[in-house]
Amino acid sequence: MLDFKLTQHQQEAQPLVEVEQKEHQVYDLIILGGGPAGLTAAIYAGRAALKALVLAGSLPGGQIANAEMVENFPGFPDGIAGAELAQQVHEQAQRFDATIITEVVREVDFSVYPLEVRTSSNIYHARAVIIATGTIPRRLGVSGESEFYGRGVSTCATCDGFFYRDRRVVVVGGGDSAVEEGLFLTKFAREVIVVHRRDELRACDMLQKRAFANPKMRFVWDSVVEGILGDQAVKGIRVRNVKTGETSVIDTDGVFVYIGLIPVTGIFKGQVDIDDNGYIITDRRQQTSVPGVFAAGDVQNPDFRQAVVAAGSGAVAAIEVGRFLAGLSQTQ
Ligand SMILES: Cc1cc2nc3c(=O)[nH]c(=O)nc-3n(C[C@H](O)[C@H](O)[C@H](O)COP(=O)(O)OP(=O)(O)OC[C@H]3O[C@@H](n4cnc5c(N)ncnc54)[C@H](O)[C@@H]3O)c2cc1C
Repeated sequence: MLDFKLTQHQQEAQPLVEVEQKEHQVYDLIILGGGPAGLTAAIYAGRAALKALVLAGSLPGGQIANAEMVENFPGFPDGIAGAELAQQVHEQAQRFDATIITEVVREVDFSVYPLEVRTSSNIYHARAVIIATGTIPRRLGVSGESEFYGRGVSTCATCDGFFYRDRRVVVVGGGDSAVEEGLFLTKFAREVIVVHRRDELRACDMLQKRAFANPKMRFVWDSVVEGILGDQAVKGIRVRNVKTGETSVIDTDGVFVYIGLIPVTGIFKGQVDIDDNGYIITDRRQQTSVPGVFAAGDVQNPDFRQAVVAAGSGAVAAIEVGRFLAGLSQTQ
């Protein structure tokens, strides 16, 4: 049974360690990533009778598994817990014979054919690849953040909120994720302080209304975090008002950071075209700059980072893989 609710995911590329075992089988398709995009691609690949392998990394089910409740995925009129949605999509992909394993991809070589994908323990080959490695949370980059990461600093309220019963917590950010996760934290914490660098939230109207109506939520506007303070545990944060320049300390037991996302594309640099912000460039058929290599989901879409959009692009990519392989077999 896979854990669809991991505490943190650390899937930045690690240095390649020595490969102990080699696999000689050539798959029709290897899908890199087991989130909504990758697993939907696996469902479509299975239904097209393609032999597909999903390398799901350390967050099987993807980021949606960390969402407390998903209210905007079609087919669930009462909403569905993110972990349950992830589990269901995973089971659906397995029903269509996708092999799903939680190895982390360390290196790829798209200059050879069949295309090559390496993990710590295996070398895999495929006639097509779909990259669906999603994004990871952006860090604040201030003093104390790394030191207290995982013990007072978090990027996942759904995973860690439980530990803050009757405590005071700070949420950094002003978008949908920050407000949604802040609201979730009010179930446990006695007070949730949202620190935002602007004087208004970016979150959608519905979330804003819920947040402003919640008596446990408080807002510190025009402020950026300059440091996380503590000794054995987090005790507070130092903030600077960007309008007045004044600094002050806010006492807190925990800090939840939602200041944006970074695409997981480090291992693809030099292999496929990537834009200035690190996102993989595709055409509307999800084709990258390398024939046979496609990309789907948040890793190639900074504008619409939603599960349903990721799933849709995963479907498109898998359909296109089928066409690519059919074209290839006609020329052979
Ligand atoms: C807290 C939270 C709440 C959200 N709520 C909603 C919501 O209510 N509705 C909604 O539509 N969207 C929501 N989203 C956004 C949604 O989760 C994402 O848009 C969606 O998960 C993107 O899917 P994806 O498959 O592109 O990437 P991801 O879900 O990010 O999945 C990436 C996958 O790639 C894998 N991976 C990464 N690196 C490697 C590697 N090197 N090797 C192998 N595998 C790797 C990971 O393990 C993971 O399986 C929420 C996100 C968060 C964080």
